[in-house]
Amino acid sequence: MLIIIGSGPTGLSCAYRLRTDYLIVEKEAYYGGLGASIYSDGFTFDYSGHLLHLRWDETKKFVLDILKDNIIEIERNAQIYIDKCYTDYPFQVNLYNLPPEIKSQCLNGFLKAQLKERTMTKNFKIWSYETFGEGICKYFMFPYNEKLLSYPLESITTDWLGEFVPQPNINQVLNGALKGKIKNIGYNAKFYYPLNGGIYSLTRKLLADNKRLMLKKEVTKVSFKEKKLFFKDGSAIKYSKLINTMPLKHFIEISDAPEKVKGAARNLKHNTVYVLNLGIKKTKFKQHWIYFPEKRFPFYRVGFYTNFSKNLAPDGYDSLYVELSTRENEYVDIQKKYDDIIKALIELKIIRSEKDVITKLWSKIECGYVIYDDKRNKSLETIFGYLKTNEVISTGRYGGWKYSFMEENIRDGFDAAKEISGGRL
Ligand SMILES: Cc1cc2nc3c(=O)[nH]c(=O)nc-3n(C[C@H](O)[C@H](O)[C@H](O)COP(=O)(O)OP(=O)(O)OC[C@H]3O[C@@H](n4cnc5c(N)ncnc54)[C@H](O)[C@@H]3O)c2cc1C
Repeated sequence: MLIIIGSGPTGLSCAYRLRTDYLIVEKEAYYGGLGASIYSDGFTFDYSGHLLHLRWDETKKFVLDILKDNIIEIERNAQIYIDKCYTDYPFQVNLYNLPPEIKSQCLNGFLKAQLKERTMTKNFKIWSYETFGEGICKYFMFPYNEKLLSYPLESITTDWLGEFVPQPNINQVLNGALKGKIKNIGYNAKFYYPLNGGIYSLTRKLLADNKRLMLKKEVTKVSFKEKKLFFKDGSAIKYSKLINTMPLKHFIEISDAPEKVKGAARNLKHNTVYVLNLGIKKTKFKQHWIYFPEKRFPFYRVGFYTNFSKNLAPDGYDSLYVELSTRENEYVDIQKKYDDIIKALIELKIIRSEKDVITKLWSKIECGYVIYDDKRNKSLETIFGYLKTNEVISTGRYGGWKYSFMEENIRDGFDAAKEISGGRL
């Protein structure tokens, strides 16, 4: 039997392509992974905003086809809050709205950086400094990314950047500082989102056959030698082929892989993301999301679900998500965080008082962002080399241990189906 561990977007897409002869095992009582939504008190919450960035023809067509009329295209309205003022995202090309002193530091630093010769650095902190200069780094790049990743930027590499960090030219930065509003830059300038039902509307359509899905089936031990999976409920299943989408670090930890491979897995790092979902009385905010690089705010981003689709809350109400991150295994005093968040939302005038909060729901994403440090590549080489000799595929955002997004995971699932079936699909 071909077994797929995990029913998130990757596992489901893989199964969708395979059609028959597989079984998905999922530890939770629901399927969908981070592509699920939670329905609570008339509100629909995702695991923080889950927007569809569709850039490839095959997957774009697939997603648009399966969602039919239940999808809309939206032009991004994202901002950054610094020194009591809002400016548009991306920060580096929208300096226009900043206080003159900050704008001048950012422009000065950027122009100086442009005149300097660049090194071939792989260090994210140095790369940012060489690319954007002192001011942009001081006010946005450094504090925001430190808050997002919860890791010192000196230890982060540039391997994850790709299209995720827009790198404008001098013209764009100058125009954005002097003329204002350069919005259509970056991979998420436009995005898609379901009209109804949250992101689960997509993930649900990916479930091809619920008879081949076993919920509450947590894999607690993996034997590559015996080709066997052991579950929390005491049962075990033999597999003929295995596709994994659970976090790679944990997958290897619970396996009988050799010590060298387990050692490599111990080198892999990730952060943990906490999401506070709130159903609130109507707010005037029209942004889709706002970045908060300043340390005095406990969160790095606040997003407004009801600005993606008003159908995500009952009439007369809005909903939002607040995201914060910590290191792996770091203790968090949730009540204190909640109090700090509410205080900040009141200061920002997003809510008038705590009485505006109709419902609240925390989600903890244990493995939120994988950390690209200098041990990652070497460790992955060791782990994937070992898995290959054992004919096991590990893929998706966490199975592949990468910074990725749902469209890529749908493609990962399709690719895994193709590979496991010897190119037949
Ligand atoms: C804060 C945040 C915001 C994001 N925003 C976006 C966005 O706007 N747009 C976008 O495209 N992407 C976004 N993403 C990324 C997106 O969530 C992932 O790319 C996608 O969900 C990964 O799918 P997956 O199937 O690979 O993993 P998952 O969705 O994590 O699925 C893995 C599954 O494995 C199961 N599992 C784990 N351990 C076990 C076990 N021991 N036994 C059995 N099952 C197990 C899990 O329960 C889960 O169902 C965001 C991610 C985060 C963290």
